[in-house]
Amino acid sequence: MPIKNRISEMHGEITVWRRDFHENPELLYDTHRTSKIVKEKLTSFGCDQVITGLGRTGVVGVIHGRSNSNRKTIGLRADMDALPIKEITNLEYSSKKDGMMHACGHDGHTAMLLGAAKYLSETRNFDGKVVVIFQPAEEGGAGAKEMCEDGLMSDFDISEVYGMHNAPGLPVGQFNIRSGAFFAAADQFTVNIQGKGGHAARPQETIDPTIVGAHILIALQSVASRNTDPLKSLVVSVTSFRTESDSYNVIPQTVQLKGTVRTLSKDVRDMAQDKITQLIKNTGLAFGANVELDYDRGYPVMINSDLETSHMIKAAKNVAGDENVDDNASQVMGAEDFSYMLEERPGAYIRVGNGNTASLHHPNYDFNDESIPFGTSFWVELTETRLPFL
Ligand SMILES: [Zn+2]
Ligand SMILES: [Zn+2]
Repeated sequence: MPIKNRISEMHGEITVWRRDFHENPELLYDTHRTSKIVKEKLTSFGCDQVITGLGRTGVVGVIHGRSNSNRKTIGLRADMDALPIKEITNLEYSSKKDGMMHACGHDGHTAMLLGAAKYLSETRNFDGKVVVIFQPAEEGGAGAKEMCEDGLMSDFDISEVYGMHNAPGLPVGQFNIRSGAFFAAADQFTVNIQGKGGHAARPQETIDPTIVGAHILIALQSVASRNTDPLKSLVVSVTSFRTESDSYNVIPQTVQLKGTVRTLSKDVRDMAQDKITQLIKNTGLAFGANVELDYDRGYPVMINSDLETSHMIKAAKNVAGDENVDDNASQVMGAEDFSYMLEERPGAYIRVGNGNTASLHHPNYDFNDESIPFGTSFWVELTETRLPFL
């Protein structure tokens, strides 16, 4: 199929849902309104089961195909949360909540998957079961992880799981994807340096924590440049450097540094944590300062499995045409918590073109409603090709 007629007919209706979500953004796990609407719609479509409360505010719908001879269940996932950004789009359906907006297009993801759920509930033109997954807290709250911990994969017997995200800059009607590591792991660290403050004119009586912090900052640059295979990827960025002093003549007592570490493989991730820990500890020792490091591992590397990636490529080509699917997309140093679902089950993640819009997380961003028929058709096509009648 390219776009199904029925899905073209639903374009206006799905757009209305999307803009309603856009006007009413909710952060992290506080997606109470969105979750309630998702639950009500899934119930009204006639889903065989609608379950709430996984991952606190997550919602799951189960749709049975016309037969179940192959006893296979696939999961399709969308995210529902917005961001703490003040919208500047001036659209008629702009956020009604000051300082919150759907700047990552999760409003569109939720609406497109709801559209697919409606279509699949009406037609049931597949053999097996589909689980539609609506998760909260993608933006830093690891909602996917909480849903998995609440039994998402095992309780619903999901054997493969798929995700989709819009991509600004990629033309509407196009898709891109790659097999293997696609999005980076995102870890973060905080360094607290305790020195000995004093008069800036009598440095010999102090242990200056700003000097220690500066040496740590410079030393960290060598982890990417000297310890990492040049053909592999690592980003170490120090994003905050603060002292408690705001004067010209005081050497402060303490300095705090914060930063993020992005990697595309487990070995580089482990190596980076080791080297960063050693450099920070030993630099503190060299200067006689007391240094404490807090190193938090965040979202893991998101790895698309080969077979499921090929299923997604096939479905995307069926919807958009061969020439509109890039199966060798560039890797991304941003992170995505769908990686937790891909640690539990084989699966893959694809991007759908959002056209020439502002970038993700920009206050002028808006999800492009013209991509709705492509995203919704893609979910339906993937379901029908993965769950064919025997
Ligand atoms: Zn985002
Ligand atoms: Zn996003």
